[in-house]
Amino acid sequence: MSEDKRTELETIGEFGLIDALTKGFKKKNDSTIFGIGDDAAVINRDDKNVTLVSTDFLIEGIHFNLMYTPLKHLGYKSVVVNLSDIYAMNGRPEQITVSIAVSNRFPKEALEELYDGIKTACDIYNIDLIGGDTTSSLSGLVISVTALGTAKKEDVVYRSGAKENDLLVVTGDLGAAYMGLQVLEREKSVYKANPDIQPDLDGFDYLLERQLKPEARKDVIQFLKDLDVKPTSMIDVSDGLASEIFHLCKGSDLGAQIYDEKLPIDTKVSMTAIDFNIDPATCILNGGEDYELLFSVAQEDFDKIKGNPHMSIIGHFTSKDAGVYMIDKQGAAIKLKAQGWDSFRGE
Ligand code: ADP
Ligand code: MG
Repeated sequence: MSEDKRTELETIGEFGLIDALTKGFKKKNDSTIFGIGDDAAVINRDDKNVTLVSTDFLIEGIHFNLMYTPLKHLGYKSVVVNLSDIYAMNGRPEQITVSIAVSNRFPKEALEELYDGIKTACDIYNIDLIGGDTTSSLSGLVISVTALGTAKKEDVVYRSGAKENDLLVVTGDLGAAYMGLQVLEREKSVYKANPDIQPDLDGFDYLLERQLKPEARKDVIQFLKDLDVKPTSMIDVSDGLASEIFHLCKGSDLGAQIYDEKLPIDTKVSMTAIDFNIDPATCILNGGEDYELLFSVAQEDFDKIKGNPHMSIIGHFTSKDAGVYMIDKQGAAIKLKAQGWDSFRGE
């Protein structure tokens, strides 16, 4: 480290930092098929199969607030967000390791609740807990989960495989987890101002569930197999649709065009967004934590995807020079910015 140079992390952002830290590492082992830069690393297993590996932190005060996050849900979510990365490679998760750092503020019973949620996720997604680490923390609760999965070699889908004119498809609906968080934050402020007022969460069930207890789209991986469609590129929507579109564009060296009117949003989400003075399109583009899948398919597969209740065709890839744009409801082209979650840029 030179004495006179100091680069603030917020000027380079999370992805700039990862690039800077990892660019000097060269691949040394043939078994490493793909390392940094996708939802999971891809490792050779045998002639026909690969192992997929992905890891994520959940940090108290950054990723969750224990004032409104039940520990059981937190355990469940910490597993699901990692499984989502394995599905995003078109793989099947099979094992997890779980590491926790805890302060003595937590009794054994609280951590058992956390593990109750972890166990529920393992049961629902058919995952084995195979290890981890336990240590103390001076500040908050830290959870790190690593997911391992498998896939046939020819089935693995990278961020880099898309071609110009491939259709962009997103599963489910977007923005609900973000609006769920806004509702929880509002009630937290009300409670802090006056602890006698009980939180009013009635009618927000869907939004709260999407925030507190998300699901990974295991079902979509099966639907795609049943439809005999192999996506040309894929990523999970953890940081907001715009950010994920940029990742696919960067991976595949393309531009993209999406259509505002095609973006899937639940009515309750758009209604709540308007109540909160937030543009519903902003929730979708920059909200994050939906854990839906964003993928591309070749034009020939249009008929197989069209009308599928779980999938929305939201646009297509263009040449890199054409940039990344959203066509709004009036037909105007708006340049997209990746304003999703970026650890060092704050909100
Ligand atoms: P995702 O959002 O899908 O979990 P990330 O955006 O966290 O993926 O990470 C992008 C890529 O950078 C992944 O391949 C990840 O393994 C890698 N990565 C992230 N942080 C580090 C780090 N500190 N050192 C090495 N690789 C990292
Ligand atoms: Mg991901």
